[in-house]
Amino acid sequence: MPSSETAKPYVIALEEHYADPAVMARAASRPMGRMAGLQNKLNDLGEVRLGEMDAAGIDFQVISHAPSPMQQLDASEARTLATQANDRLHDAVDRNPDRFAAFAGLPTPDPKAAADELERTVTRLGFKGAMIHGRSHEEFHDLQKFWPIYERAQYLDVPIYIHPGPPHPAVQQAYYADYLADYPGLASAAWGFTIDTANQVVRMILSGLFDAYPNLKIIVGHMGEGIPFLVDRIDESLNRPGGKPIPFKRIFAEHFWITTSGHFSTPALMCALLELGIDRILFSVDWPYVDNLPGMQWMATLPVSSTDKEKMFNANARALLKL
Ligand code: MN
Repeated sequence: MPSSETAKPYVIALEEHYADPAVMARAASRPMGRMAGLQNKLNDLGEVRLGEMDAAGIDFQVISHAPSPMQQLDASEARTLATQANDRLHDAVDRNPDRFAAFAGLPTPDPKAAADELERTVTRLGFKGAMIHGRSHEEFHDLQKFWPIYERAQYLDVPIYIHPGPPHPAVQQAYYADYLADYPGLASAAWGFTIDTANQVVRMILSGLFDAYPNLKIIVGHMGEGIPFLVDRIDESLNRPGGKPIPFKRIFAEHFWITTSGHFSTPALMCALLELGIDRILFSVDWPYVDNLPGMQWMATLPVSSTDKEKMFNANARALLKL
C-alpha cells in the first residue's frame, strides 16, 4: 500500500441480519419473499457470514433478527421464543466476541415482558439495544401500551432500532396490489417498507413519546427512511394554524440516528448530512438482503473527510452503542 494512503478504517455495520430457525418455523404459512433464497446466509452465525465480511473489509457486525413472525404471535409464545432466540444469538456472539455484537428481538405482544427481555439481554448478555420490526398485531409502536419498552431503553441508555415490516394488509391491497405481480419488491424494500417505517417515525414524534422519555435514542435504517429529505416540509406543515404546535424537526434531530443500510446514495447522504450532521449517520449494509461489497465500494467514493468517514464507519457506533 502506498504510504500516502491512510490505513483502512475499522468498519462496524449495524443492520445485519440472521434468522433463528425456531422463530422462522412459525413463518411457514407466511410469504417471506426472497428469504428462501437467502436462508443459508441468514441461518449462518459463523463461517459464511465472517467470510463475506472479510471479503468486503467489514470488521464487526451488530447482528439482529430478520423480519419474522415474532411480533404477531400470542404473548406467551412470543415471550418463550424471544428468550430462547436471544440466548442462541448470545451463544453465537460469544464464539466471536471480537467480530459480533447483538440487538435483541423483543416479544412486543407483551410490552412489559419485552421491556424485561430488553433489560435481561442488555445487562446479562451484553446486547447493545433491540430491534423492532414493523407493527405488532397491526398496531404501531407509538401506542402508549408499548411505552414500557422505551422507558426501559432510556433507563438502560440503549437505542431501539425501528426496522421495516410488511405494510398493513389493507394498505397492501389499496396501494400496492395492482403492481405486485410484476414488481414484488414494491410493497417491501422498494417503497412499502419506507412508507410504513416513515409513518412509524412520524407517529412516534407526534405521540409525545419523546417528552415522556427525553433521553430516548432511536435508530432508523435506509438513510432515515426518507425523513431527512422531508423533515422541513413535515415541520412547516404540522405547525400551520389550526393544529397543535410541535417541534417536529428538533425532536427528529435530537432523538434519531440513521444508518446507510441498503441505500448507498451520495445525494441522499448529502441531504441527511445537511439535516442531521455527520455524528448521526452510521454505516450499515442490511446483509444478506444487500451485499457487503457495494456498500464498502460506495463508502470509498464519498466526498467527505477521512475524519467524517471514520465517524460513519466506527466512531458514531462506538459512542451510541458503547462498544
Ligand atoms: Mn434490514
